[in-house]
Amino acid sequence: MPPTSILPSTHRTGLIFDERYLHHDTGAQNIVRMRKGSFETSPEGHPSSTSITKRIKEFLDGAGLTAMMQPVAARAASEDELAVYHTREYIQGVRSHVQGGPMQGAWGEIESDTPLSAGSFDAAVYAAGGSLNGVKAIMQGEVRNAYALLRPPGHHAMSNRAMGFCIFNNAVVAAHYARNTYGLERVMIVDWDVHHGNGTQDAFYADPGVLFVSLHQHNWYPKLSGELEQVGSGAGAGYTVNIPLPAGTGDRGYRAAFEQLVIPVGLQYRPQLIIISAGQDANWLDPLAQNMLTMAGFRTISMLMRDLADEVCDGRLLMLQEGGYSAAYVPYCTVAAIEPLVGLDAGLVDLYAGSSEVDRCMTILTQETRDALAAAKKWHSNWWNI
Ligand SMILES: [Zn+2]
Repeated sequence: MPPTSILPSTHRTGLIFDERYLHHDTGAQNIVRMRKGSFETSPEGHPSSTSITKRIKEFLDGAGLTAMMQPVAARAASEDELAVYHTREYIQGVRSHVQGGPMQGAWGEIESDTPLSAGSFDAAVYAAGGSLNGVKAIMQGEVRNAYALLRPPGHHAMSNRAMGFCIFNNAVVAAHYARNTYGLERVMIVDWDVHHGNGTQDAFYADPGVLFVSLHQHNWYPKLSGELEQVGSGAGAGYTVNIPLPAGTGDRGYRAAFEQLVIPVGLQYRPQLIIISAGQDANWLDPLAQNMLTMAGFRTISMLMRDLADEVCDGRLLMLQEGGYSAAYVPYCTVAAIEPLVGLDAGLVDLYAGSSEVDRCMTILTQETRDALAAAKKWHSNWWNI
């Protein structure tokens, strides 16, 4: 198919959000386990809770960002569009599970950490379809860049397995769509979610047409996934760039990782579109990781990625929501990630501004982090001029 013409950008930022996303209900937890037995408490939301998505939206509204962004409607991804990566049997298996069917079978598996509700299938196909419409709005020049506040997230989802709160791999189907519909030859996916994007890595492991760069907490989740040595195979060798970081990396370590690795590699690859798996769970208050980024840190890495997109692909940048489990702090970090896209400082004051913990997260740069960055640079210099 010939490439569709790329119209001049209006320099707007799109916002993809759909009420259906809130119908993916991961439920509540009210059982506290003891070494012997257990007791019940009043219910507390699952880590990947609807309430955090809702709260992020309220922050975007309240900070004045929504009003400055152009709504981009979501839609249902078709089975064919999902089947660029997922097996048709798996897609049917998920559909039948939300109607009361089993969690596993010959078709694949929904791992027990990924609870689904009656609305989860629709939410998941609209999350994937919202990502596709984000690509479309950017490629057709309706917006310059976009943020998709979607759920369920996608980067852990494998071809026939739901895991890590993910059902369909939104970044993977979006990258395939960009290539199949607009003829793109080079798409870069940067995954700054603190966990490793194992599904995304799997999908493009042998494929030089998609450069996958992941920054994540080393030796965390999934186990043994995202090691430095996992670089791709065959023609894809060198096009998977894993940057494992130690717990406690903080703002300066992340900035150095972008400046020394992500940006130079991106400048050499010259993608025609950048997709970011934007999980804000590297924040310092997150219960599911310890990488210690602050709101200011997220603003910095978002600015660096926006500038890279400006340099290599006329600003074409799509951020897809992945994880983020501190209900208190993730909305602050998400606002900070979106501000550079819109070109606006919303004036939000960091929840713990002035606290010694925030200062420490902003200034720390341990020897362990320096060593991890040096090792990553040395290793990836086998494939890239860094
Ligand atoms: Zn995550």
